[in-house]
Amino acid sequence: MSGYQPASRVTRIKESASVLAAARVRELKAQGRSIIDLTVGEPDFDTPEHVKQAAIAAMEAGETKYTSVTGTPKLRSAILQHVESRTGATYGENQITIAGGAKQVIFTAFMASLDEGDEVIIPAPYWVSYPDMVLANDGSPVIIACGDEVDFKLTPAALAAAITPCTKWLVLNTPSNPTGVVYTEGELEALAAVLAEHPHVQVLTDEIYDEIYFGTGRAASLVAAAPALRDRILMVNGVSKAYAMTGWRLGYGLGPAALVASINKLQSQISSCPSSISQAAAAAALTGDQSFVADCVNAYRERRDAAVAGLNAIDGLSCTSPDGAFYAYVRCACAIGKTTPGGALIEDDQDFVLYLLDAASVAVIPGSAYGLGPYFRISFATSLETIKAGVEAIDKAVRALN
Ligand code: PMP
Repeated sequence: MSGYQPASRVTRIKESASVLAAARVRELKAQGRSIIDLTVGEPDFDTPEHVKQAAIAAMEAGETKYTSVTGTPKLRSAILQHVESRTGATYGENQITIAGGAKQVIFTAFMASLDEGDEVIIPAPYWVSYPDMVLANDGSPVIIACGDEVDFKLTPAALAAAITPCTKWLVLNTPSNPTGVVYTEGELEALAAVLAEHPHVQVLTDEIYDEIYFGTGRAASLVAAAPALRDRILMVNGVSKAYAMTGWRLGYGLGPAALVASINKLQSQISSCPSSISQAAAAAALTGDQSFVADCVNAYRERRDAAVAGLNAIDGLSCTSPDGAFYAYVRCACAIGKTTPGGALIEDDQDFVLYLLDAASVAVIPGSAYGLGPYFRISFATSLETIKAGVEAIDKAVRALN
């Protein structure tokens, strides 16, 4: 036998469901189909002008070379100040890693810490990438179903029951993709009380949507709610969502120095450093005028209200109003077991989502991709017009079921 044989880490994982959904929508559009796309996992706003200008200025100033593995001093200090102002937590220079997106930080954190047999607790519904990232790095995902009866949130009792001597990490994501739920400070404290009894468990808190919060004040952060656990928390964030900078690929992690040193050691062999130009842009985003973020949140709030009201008005569908991020997680149990006008039986949320795409030209993502069905995720990071058209088309499609 000759030629390429995939490594077991490749055969053990799937491609990201959201990346695949985006590719499918692009393909259908290229075929001339007009698709109402509610799959998008990124802001539809353009990167703010002052951020682009900072990138141009950096290029013109010759900041186009490798930086230190740990990032430029300017960006490091911008991140440390930003995080302190948001959470009150202070970190040292040796506690920061900067990479090509929060995604890369999470991946290398698992790579730096997991060996075969190590368990990672992941509450479902979860961001699609966590289980596959764990699997790719030899760990075992331990999925805890957190349905709407617990507001899609991990409870202290469920956490306590899932911890074993092999548990390496708990992954928390607040505000959440795909549900938009946001843990309160009290809920985080209650989880921290369980973790206090299990000092071998570290927590990866993914707070990439922290700025997109519809409540008053700020979304609670685990590092603020559980200062006593700070030496085993890796807090992950980035500029993708808050500043509409997904394509710049810039994220960061803050945590214990020993873990961060391992992550940075891996990064020195993987990518050397994130893009110097993106680092300059990210520093400008974090230190510059923040009114862009507030304007986006106001727009997302209006869209959320329209989406949630419209979806709940559809007979049989239901969703709670998300407190953060730009997603709603819609229960579609009503459609399961029904038949499409073409005579096909809808057996699960994947069938339902395919039906919506075929019959109503609306693209959404099935809940099964996030580990909890029967639901589908819609993104409201798109125009009000698109949201209203999508809701209308879904309504029609649901009515046509027998
Ligand atoms: N975490 C969550 C929950 C996300 O939804 C995403 C982006 N879809 C990321 C991390 C990755 O963000 P980045 O662009 O910084 O890699």
